[in-house]
Amino acid sequence: MRRPLVAGNWKMNLNLAQANELVAGIRAAYDPSPTVEVAVCPPAVYLIPVVKAVGDSGIAVGAQDLYFEPSGAYTGEISAAMIADTGAKCVIIGHSERRHTISHHEDDWMMNRKVAAALATNLTPILCVGETVEQRKAGQTLAVLTFQLIAGLADIPLADPEQVVIAYEPVWAIGTGQVATPEQAQEAHAHLRDKLGQIAGQQIAAGVRILYGGSMKPDNAAEIMSKPDVDGGLIGGASLKPDSFVGIIRAAAAAAV
Ligand code: PEP
Repeated sequence: MRRPLVAGNWKMNLNLAQANELVAGIRAAYDPSPTVEVAVCPPAVYLIPVVKAVGDSGIAVGAQDLYFEPSGAYTGEISAAMIADTGAKCVIIGHSERRHTISHHEDDWMMNRKVAAALATNLTPILCVGETVEQRKAGQTLAVLTFQLIAGLADIPLADPEQVVIAYEPVWAIGTGQVATPEQAQEAHAHLRDKLGQIAGQQIAAGVRILYGGSMKPDNAAEIMSKPDVDGGLIGGASLKPDSFVGIIRAAAAAAV
């Protein structure tokens, strides 16, 4: 039985006061439950205060990215160990805003090194994969997912399904309001689980959580998360307000029973 994870990706939003207010709002509205795991991923400069703000609520904190080298002359970068030092437990890797925006253009080789660096420091990588609209229109969705998954996890032995989380994030659905249909999500998730089985064995694949991300909101979350291979969500815009984020957590809890 996979425990759903609902993770909020705050991106480059909120100031410190607003970050604290958001955590307080989530804590006030959310009933900690063993059925759903919750995480928030603030900008790196707010990791330490947000770890403090979540306190003993059971909400985990994650980073939005890391650099794969352990230390050195990499101005502006942050290592896995530095993230772990803040008390953060997970890290988003390969978000489409890092794969596809002109200032980053990170490739799958880099994702793979980042996943390895996270695991070496006992951080849980949330590896994002997903096709662009052009790739979907060209019928390449499943091939793109296969490539990104295999490349991202290359030479990474998985001994425990909880070591990694995969997030299926169709690029055309991120921040656009255009959500994948539950059937499109299920097709992609089932495909990813099948490929995971080929890479890591059926037992590991059956236990790895695969999140959906892309314009998930309280009113569409329940239907998507009712699909058998959807194990929670990676949430952008709707994670910035306590009501909408907690609404999605509740949908995940309802889907888990
Ligand atoms: C994201 O950035 O990972 C995301 C899914 O964003 P949104 O929910 O705003 O589409």
